[in-house]
Amino acid sequence: MARPAVEKPDITIVGGGLAGLSTGIALAESGIDTAIVESRRKAKADIFGFLLWPPGTRSLRWLGALPEALRHGAELESLTWFVVGQERTRLRVDLTELGAGTFLGILPSRLESVLRDTALRAGVRILDSVDEWTLSRERATWTMRLRRPEGPLTLRTPLLIGADGSGSRLRGELGLSSSRRQPRGQVIVTGVGGPLPARESRQALSASGSGGCVSLGDKDSWLYTVAQESEAGDPDHALRQYAAVDPANAPAYDQLQRAVVVRPWTITVPRWATDGAVLMGDAAHGMLPHLGLGGSLTLEDVPLLREVAEEAVRSGDFCAARLSAFQQRRQPRTAYAQRISDQWARVLCGSAPGARTARDLAMRRMARNMELAETFYRELASPSVPSLGTRMRMMML
Ligand SMILES: Cc1cc2nc3c(=O)[nH]c(=O)nc-3n(C[C@H](O)[C@H](O)[C@H](O)COP(=O)(O)OP(=O)(O)OC[C@H]3O[C@@H](n4cnc5c(N)ncnc54)[C@H](O)[C@@H]3O)c2cc1C
Repeated sequence: MARPAVEKPDITIVGGGLAGLSTGIALAESGIDTAIVESRRKAKADIFGFLLWPPGTRSLRWLGALPEALRHGAELESLTWFVVGQERTRLRVDLTELGAGTFLGILPSRLESVLRDTALRAGVRILDSVDEWTLSRERATWTMRLRRPEGPLTLRTPLLIGADGSGSRLRGELGLSSSRRQPRGQVIVTGVGGPLPARESRQALSASGSGGCVSLGDKDSWLYTVAQESEAGDPDHALRQYAAVDPANAPAYDQLQRAVVVRPWTITVPRWATDGAVLMGDAAHGMLPHLGLGGSLTLEDVPLLREVAEEAVRSGDFCAARLSAFQQRRQPRTAYAQRISDQWARVLCGSAPGARTARDLAMRRMARNMELAETFYRELASPSVPSLGTRMRMMML
């Protein structure tokens, strides 16, 4: 029987989603021989959209992929929130005036195809349709045996990057512990609809939860509802009820393809690195999608991870202490984003007594002080954690 082919990339990335493809591009552009191992055969069908904040679009620009991504999506001009039936709670952030950078709405499959093309052009080897893999380590080298339709392939590599998402199998194989939490009884109902009249994101807060839409370009929009599980028995109905409270965007709901219920998690991983391996993206810091920060912070990982990985390859030192520099520098920001995403999830759909009244009062207070809301969004879109003063005034600690 023929022996499996063997390849020896400098770095092997497990997972070819947002994190894996963007890191692959950055490493290949530094001249590092990089392979990506991906289990899927083709892009997933879209059930939601990405609202990417400036931390994400700055990385896309740095990778040379932003102009193409903008061609396939929409540069958003405003973010609006309002409490249904309470005109004084309308909060609108004009992104063209905010001066914080580009906010992008795009279908995940389109962004993936832009990144995939960029990665292939940069010389990344993308090994997809990997049905199964096994992992072992000997004398500081990983051996990864892949089963693919084309036949078996063995990779020998000194450094693994775990970019296989919130349910990361690699994380478990490496013995890196994780815990997860979820807002109790809460779900997101999500789907892709037709175009919106404006390039914006809008969210309505109602007595039973919240619903909204994000423009994803000339043809599509992301439609979603945050609801208690008990109210999402009929997902299509749960999603469409928000068409009635936002009539200007109602036609987008006529083209809704399908409504799907998802239950995302916040993932806490105490240690992101071990000898010869490091986690990134959702595998390291998966967060609730309620503020649209998960993908943006995943993309924001990329420049620093390249720096750390490049130094490791140059020095030939792949020990955990060196690789954990990535976590030390990234975690304050990702932990803050996880915290406020959890907080926002409670605000949108909290079931505790008095939660809705507190939410509506907070919205009214913010609507009266738009300058504070703008400062908060500007600081959140910057590369650092918002200042303590702003966080305290916004009550988003
Ligand atoms: C409903 C919803 C809405 C969201 N909205 C937004 C938003 O508006 N803005 C935003 O910034 N973020 C949003 N997010 C979060 C965003 O999707 C994630 O943060 C982002 O996709 C993380 O990228 P990743 O590459 O780390 O993980 P993933 O995108 O999960 O990619 C992981 C990849 O690894 C592959 N893989 C998994 N297991 C294996 C294995 N064993 N072997 C090989 N390959 C494997 C998978 O096939 C996949 O391609 C949303 C998430 C959800 C669920």
